[in-house]
Amino acid sequence: MIRVLDELTINKIAAGEVVEGPFSVVKELVENSIDAKSTSIVLEIKEGGKKLIRITDNGIGIPESQVETAFLRHATSKITQLEDLESILSLGFRGEALASIASVAQVEMITRPADQPHGINIEVAGGKILHKKQVGCPTGTTIMVKNIFFNTPARMKFMKSTGGETTKISEIITRLALSKPDVSFKYINNNNIMFTTPGNGDLSQVILSVFDRTTFKNLIPIRGEMEAVKIDGFISQPSYARGNRSYEITFINGRFVKNKLIFQAIENAYKERLPINKYPVCMLSLEIDPKTIDVNVHPTKTEVKFHNEDAVYQEIYRGVKTALDKRMLIPKLEIKT
Ligand code: ADP
Ligand code: MG
Repeated sequence: MIRVLDELTINKIAAGEVVEGPFSVVKELVENSIDAKSTSIVLEIKEGGKKLIRITDNGIGIPESQVETAFLRHATSKITQLEDLESILSLGFRGEALASIASVAQVEMITRPADQPHGINIEVAGGKILHKKQVGCPTGTTIMVKNIFFNTPARMKFMKSTGGETTKISEIITRLALSKPDVSFKYINNNNIMFTTPGNGDLSQVILSVFDRTTFKNLIPIRGEMEAVKIDGFISQPSYARGNRSYEITFINGRFVKNKLIFQAIENAYKERLPINKYPVCMLSLEIDPKTIDVNVHPTKTEVKFHNEDAVYQEIYRGVKTALDKRMLIPKLEIKT
């Protein structure tokens, strides 16, 4: 018997790709806040995000007439046709996150655009709208996700311990804060403030807020504009290498990516300067013409493909190598506490 699946079942299946765990809820929702042009984003979690994830932003909000639509699958304000993907700059575009998250968790959203006198409070759980009402609230959006996987026990079992899930969330929010120095981030875990970034556009201030002074002191600034790639950021002195790649943090047009070609370009530029099995620390922001990259390779969008792999590799390799050859340290430490 061949059947067409119902909407909720489809959403739950899609949630398997988009919502791997609390950390992916954080990623998707904070990306939405960034896409909504927020200048301030607060993330609060309880019990590794398993109990509660709350994100408050001061972005553009969602108009009353569109609040329900936002929770539908393939509902997005970011693209209207396939061609738009060729020049995509927003972090989201698949219109899957809210529908997927709301199909496997209890979600409450309070949202108001600046030009509307009141906001909307909507509750959705297991893919069903429970209620929707007008409320007084500040401009922007607050979204609360409670009891993730409450209706998919098999997936609930596969979540890590609170500590394990917290580590993954910390990693994600750190990357997001690094990717947007012009946005102020506050990260609160079980009522403890983990970090606050100033949101003044200065990447070194973000690094100081999310890492420690030792990391910062071992970084070399790198900046260069080449044909295919514009590089801006920091790379570590070779002596400050780590045992794995998790501190090789790279962004393309503000989006966190993990790309083999980029890792190779960076690591080969360090060759001979690094002992075997050691990896550099870096926070590199790369600007590449969006028309020459494909971001729609995987639902989580951390994969990218380049039309011109050779140029991208060569330019990053040369950029990093030049910075290392000069071995210029950050001239003056401006440390704020
Ligand atoms: P996508 O981000 O791929 O468009 P989502 O399911 O994540 O899909 O979000 C659906 C739509 O809801 C977005 O396109 C946007 O219009 C709206 N939206 C979601 N979160 C926010 C937010 N924090 N502020 C304003 N609008 C939002
Ligand atoms: Mg989104």
